[in-house]
Amino acid sequence: MNVLNHLKKRSNTTCELCSNNDSLSHYLIPPSLNENVDNSVLICKTCKDQIEEKQKMNPNHWRCFNDSMWSEYTAVKIMSWRMLQRLRNEGWSRDLLDMMYLEEEALILSRATGEDEDEEHKVIHRDINGVTLNSGDNVVLVKGL
Ligand SMILES: [Zn+2]
Repeated sequence: MNVLNHLKKRSNTTCELCSNNDSLSHYLIPPSLNENVDNSVLICKTCKDQIEEKQKMNPNHWRCFNDSMWSEYTAVKIMSWRMLQRLRNEGWSRDLLDMMYLEEEALILSRATGEDEDEEHKVIHRDINGVTLNSGDNVVLVKGL
């Protein structure tokens, strides 16, 4: 059975975030590379559009997290957490985040895309030429004497 079929079976062919059932598709949670059931969710078009384009966010649509944040599947919880973080200026969303529980490992993965960081607070590391450094880049530390 392929990933999509697994997801359909697991969710009863409904969107795992909002329970809708129109235009469902498989969504691989970034930054995952290997497609498997544990890092994928089945989502509808409405959810997908908003996940992919921040400016389309409609807070009222996401009241569904009341349910999906308690999902037994980690992938669903991770997506709930990320989207709740995006909506954290809404009072209800903050409340849900406060109630939510994620295992350490899931929390680390949830944070991987930086949804919980404010743009202006993001620490950007640059080298002496002003080039943005990403984790994994090699730098040489020079000590001034
Ligand atoms: Zn949906």
